[in-house]
Amino acid sequence: MFRLACFALLTYSLAAQTKVDPARVTRLMQRATVIDLHDDTTQMIVDEGYDLGKLHDYGQVDIPRMRKGSVGGIFMSIWTDSDRFTPTEAVRRTLIQIDGVRRETARHPGDLELATTADEIVAARKRGHIAILMGVEGGHAIDSDLAVLRTYAQLGVRYLTLTHTNHTPWADSSAPPPQHNGLTEFGRQVVREMNRLGMMVDISHVADKTFFDALETSAAPVIASHSSSRAIASAPRNMTDAMLKALAGKGGVVHINYYEGFLDNDYAAREKALTELQKQQDAVEDHTPKFGDRSGNGPAVRKIGAARIEKLGRVPLSKLLDHFEHAVKVAGVDHVGLGSDFDGADDEFPAGMEDISKLPNLVGGLMERGFSDEDILKILGGNTLRVMREVEAVARKAK
Ligand SMILES: [Zn+2]
Repeated sequence: MFRLACFALLTYSLAAQTKVDPARVTRLMQRATVIDLHDDTTQMIVDEGYDLGKLHDYGQVDIPRMRKGSVGGIFMSIWTDSDRFTPTEAVRRTLIQIDGVRRETARHPGDLELATTADEIVAARKRGHIAILMGVEGGHAIDSDLAVLRTYAQLGVRYLTLTHTNHTPWADSSAPPPQHNGLTEFGRQVVREMNRLGMMVDISHVADKTFFDALETSAAPVIASHSSSRAIASAPRNMTDAMLKALAGKGGVVHINYYEGFLDNDYAAREKALTELQKQQDAVEDHTPKFGDRSGNGPAVRKIGAARIEKLGRVPLSKLLDHFEHAVKVAGVDHVGLGSDFDGADDEFPAGMEDISKLPNLVGGLMERGFSDEDILKILGGNTLRVMREVEAVARKAK
């Protein structure tokens, strides 16, 4: 009896110490269709000739690191700085980036293929390829013209973030003060046209009122491509519990953003205090040519980013896991996904999630917190495939 009891005790303490069986993580990643809804690598591809095929010691995304992270699909963000480009210039800059993503994808036919639907992501995965998708970040890039929106859809863009940090002439962003009290009538037309085109309506970055207006207007579920939880970190573009519940109520998915400033109030305050570094970064960015010689400001900006992370240290992975856990608790496990924001926030990602190759750490962390394999599969991409299919079904019905 005594020996048996001892054995039982030993097994228990071993289980408590060995956090997660790495083989369980590997098995799960092989089964999963991992989809990341928001990555800003496009700017580096277009401005610096960044080659996705090579392993880099900077940035967060390339093919070798996506392979390590078992990535099945990734949405390349097409973003245009509204401070530097007029909306009309933004259309050209958007087209340049779409062309950049398509060419970079075609350059790596053994690893990448362009996808525009859930089925195409699954098919690419079956062929051993990583599916490349596109989302336009910021409604200013349609220059208030539905014809431009339709053209983006034809070129393969599958979501539009209604605003970036700036208000558009038809939608309020989360930057105060509001201008339109949410969506204007034209803004509602944009949402309805997106429904018809099978583009996902993305509410990351918008004002709370814009979010509720979009939700009310959209015939299809709505997504947040890269948003975290405001109950944990008070960034105005994070989602309140009421928003999480409403999004889930309509079948949507919140894809959690890993950027440290949206995860942790303390980090955000310390980062804000580094005004000198921010000034340096702004000065560098101001001198980047808009078009033509796009040699880019990347190396200089990255140097400033490295100085920032040295001063601030990294937020622990547990903080990111808190956001996943909270979103699941409030919205439900069928409504949470991945929206890293990699290459969109310098180097400011949690310890253990420094780049896209580190996804197994996130999976291990979720397992430690008691998530079942089936639930983790949903978060890694199952929920995204489901919401894409629902958006596609609404578009088919509208035709
Ligand atoms: Zn963003």
